Amino acid sequence: MDKSIEIRANVSLQPYNTLGIKAHAAQFIEVNSETQFIELLDTNTPDYILGGGSNVLLRGDVEGLIVRNNLKGKEIVHETDDMVQVRFGAGENWHECVLWAIENGYGGIENLSLIPGTIGAAPMQNIGAYGVELKDVFVELEAIHLQEKNKQIFDHTACAFGYRESVFKKELKGQFFITAVTLQLTKKNHKLNTSYGAIQTTLEKNGIQSPDIKSISGAVIQIRQSKLPDPADLGNAGSFFKNPVIPKSQFDLIKLAHPNIISYDLPDDFVKIPAGWLIEQCGWKGKRIGDAGTYKYQALVIVNHGEASGEEIWQLAQKIQQSVNDKFGIKLTPEVNVF
Ligand code: FAD
Ligand code: NAP
Repeated sequence: MDKSIEIRANVSLQPYNTLGIKAHAAQFIEVNSETQFIELLDTNTPDYILGGGSNVLLRGDVEGLIVRNNLKGKEIVHETDDMVQVRFGAGENWHECVLWAIENGYGGIENLSLIPGTIGAAPMQNIGAYGVELKDVFVELEAIHLQEKNKQIFDHTACAFGYRESVFKKELKGQFFITAVTLQLTKKNHKLNTSYGAIQTTLEKNGIQSPDIKSISGAVIQIRQSKLPDPADLGNAGSFFKNPVIPKSQFDLIKLAHPNIISYDLPDDFVKIPAGWLIEQCGWKGKRIGDAGTYKYQALVIVNHGEASGEEIWQLAQKIQQSVNDKFGIKLTPEVNVF
């Protein structure tokens, strides 16, 4: 095997997870090409694939082999007057690809600016923010089956995207290494989305009358920097739980007891409730137990103040889950992937 992809033993994972948890991998390898990965599969079966580590909680040391994805590359595979289809290597940094798209005048992912992590992890939970989701620009992805060792193509339908969900978090969990993702971006007549959250007011504050993909990206970056902790300063994995989606009939009963509840109507008589609001109502915002806590500006973000162990973060998450269940009868589901 190529020496550059030698498997290393007992590797610290602290630099590889944005919660900054101190844990070790029994075996660890970084792969830079598909060929290297296929070669690896001749003698080993990976237990976990890791991208930027911005959506994982390491509860403790990880037994088995972790493969860290470093597959690079960007290629325009199809182009018309109106759009481009770009195939990105799965190890490309998501936000850098957003900036690259904007620099080239390609629209569609500007609202997804500053989301940490890799291109390859983006379909895993159909990343979303400010009214846009990956599925809105997704064409297809390539993935290698860890056991069968063959490459498969997944189109939109095969990915079964949902709200922070895909087939890769459900039926096919842990079975594939996503190696490339193709997105379709607009070259003109961009579908701008400024209606969500503080985008419009931020654009106005910035003196922007006619927003474009660049100014929207700038506004999103500005809002995110003011509301979310930078993992480089304070360990976190973004939203720890998904926003619960419940039937309207259940919501109506909860609203009787909690008339101030915040909600967003969804199709088919479902309602989405911001998990951050529920957690805040239970008194958890800005609280900490040891070094595990919730962020002072957004209770949905669990933070590591320095020395929290993965187990301590998990215990806090469970306490939060219990309080929300006790107060509202809603069971929060973790969005973060627990290793
Ligand atoms: P990792 O954390 O490394 O992995 C996540 C999961 O995907 C793991 O189960 C892993 O095994 C699997 N995986 C990773 N790569 C592959 C691959 N190539 N093939 C197969 N499986 C793979 N998410 C949002 O949706 N919207 C947001 O606005 C958002 N904001 C965030 C803000 C902050 C400050 C942080 C820390 C996180 C935020 N997140 C957000 C969560 C996170 O950034 C995304 O989920 C991101 O896509 C994770 O990418 P990653 O490369 O770090 O994945
Ligand atoms: P926010 O604007 O304070 O809103 C709280 C929640 O309410 C959001 O999660 C959002 O759900 C929902 N919401 C707000 N406006 C809405 C609207 N017009 N229509 C439907 N739903 C609406 O949220 P925030 O914490 O500052 O985050 C801003 C955006 O970044 C959100 O889209 C959020 O999902 C995303 N984000 C995600 C993560 C992560 O790790 N997953 C971390 C940070 C931020 P949605 O989540 O469905 O948008």
